[in-house]
Amino acid sequence: MPYFRKTALFGLLILPLIASSSTSRAAGNGVNWDEVQKEALELFIQYLKIDTTNPPGNEIRAARFFAGICKREGIEHQVFEPSPGRGVIWARVRGDGSRRPIVLLNHSDVVPHSKEFWSVDAFSAAIKDGFIYGRGAMDMKSLGMAQFVTMLTLKRAKVPLKRDVIFLATADEEAGGLNGAGWFAKNHPELIKGAEFLFNEGGNNIVDSSGKVLSVGVGPSEKTPAWLRLTATGEPGHGSTPRANSSVNRLLRALNRLLDYTPPIQLTPVVEQSFRSVAQLMPPQQAAKYANLREAVKDPDFLRQLESDPFARSIIRNTISVTVLQGSNKINVIPPVATAEIDTRLVPGEKLDRWIAELRGVIKDDSIKIEPILSFEANDSPTDSELVKTVAAIVKQKFPEAVITYPVLAGFTDSHYYRDLGVMSYGFSPFVAPPRELGGGFHGNDERIGWKAYVEGVKFFYEIVEQLAR
Ligand SMILES: [Zn+2]
Repeated sequence: MPYFRKTALFGLLILPLIASSSTSRAAGNGVNWDEVQKEALELFIQYLKIDTTNPPGNEIRAARFFAGICKREGIEHQVFEPSPGRGVIWARVRGDGSRRPIVLLNHSDVVPHSKEFWSVDAFSAAIKDGFIYGRGAMDMKSLGMAQFVTMLTLKRAKVPLKRDVIFLATADEEAGGLNGAGWFAKNHPELIKGAEFLFNEGGNNIVDSSGKVLSVGVGPSEKTPAWLRLTATGEPGHGSTPRANSSVNRLLRALNRLLDYTPPIQLTPVVEQSFRSVAQLMPPQQAAKYANLREAVKDPDFLRQLESDPFARSIIRNTISVTVLQGSNKINVIPPVATAEIDTRLVPGEKLDRWIAELRGVIKDDSIKIEPILSFEANDSPTDSELVKTVAAIVKQKFPEAVITYPVLAGFTDSHYYRDLGVMSYGFSPFVAPPRELGGGFHGNDERIGWKAYVEGVKFFYEIVEQLAR
């Protein structure tokens, strides 16, 4: 698309945001937003330039970057190195202690990128056509920096807070978080003791191409991984004399049965609620179906239509993806062992043992070993909490036509570690812009964010946290 079209579109969608920002002067009184947003942009650029590709991570660089600013600003902080090169930073601006803390959680690692598919250097933080490019621009250095600038601004403006505001940037989220959020939750739960709320990635906002904000999401839950390894054994031999029950053959039969199997629909309350919240955006006939999903899925026509969407299909049941296969490493050798790794994902509330028993029933071969590689309990956070109400109230002021939705993620974030500690944790993104402004997507090529969408998001996030913490 030519440059002028981008700019014109950009101007249009930003106008309502800027107009609304001037009407909400109450938040951040005394804060010079032009200056804060300019600095937020500069800090974001510096942050994007830090290569924290996981593996190996090197998130200690990010932790030290934040620590440097905290030191200069007199913000209480601690840096941890869970294993060499991996870094976690915790920082806190104190409230008067009369209410419980809020945690702003983000991860500083980013996924690898393929140079040949990028039009710019992924760690140059190039600014082009109104966008800032960089690995992590969407996932999730933009939100991490919005969280940091929020804490920094509260501190500098000396906003009288009732709650502590805790900033926590952790490592290793993209590989399951065991060297980051998981490590922190296990080793330093005292540093977020008593926390009531936590903001994390995993929100989802819908804005149409004209810039009209249709919905702002506050995510109360997500599916949980149950990554499994299947191991088949059998008599080894020479490829010239096939064996019907070789390890590879057993494994393939088992996998075929899994591929032919569609796990049953399991509608948990949080998934039903998620569909109900989206119903408000639908034309009447469809809305009625979404509002009562339990009944609606009994209608085969509706179900067929619903399941044509891969996301909807995944969110209403446990899922199975066969991803890693290993047999012989030589073409004429029948190996004694063959393994497969399968990425299964469970609906919130599902139990691992029950699920493995279900899979055993499908596979019908007790000689195949099934072992978990990674799995968590999946918990929900309530949608009638003060945090959700605060977001809804500010959304109502800023985007009066938007509805609040409660998305359940098909993927997973670090939130489960903190839900397990009893902290109400939510996926929320303050970047409210049409999809094209949030370009390249999570983990995509040429990952980028419109810089105006970013700076407006910083302010939106600040307003919410300030209101909740005051
Ligand atoms: Zn992420």
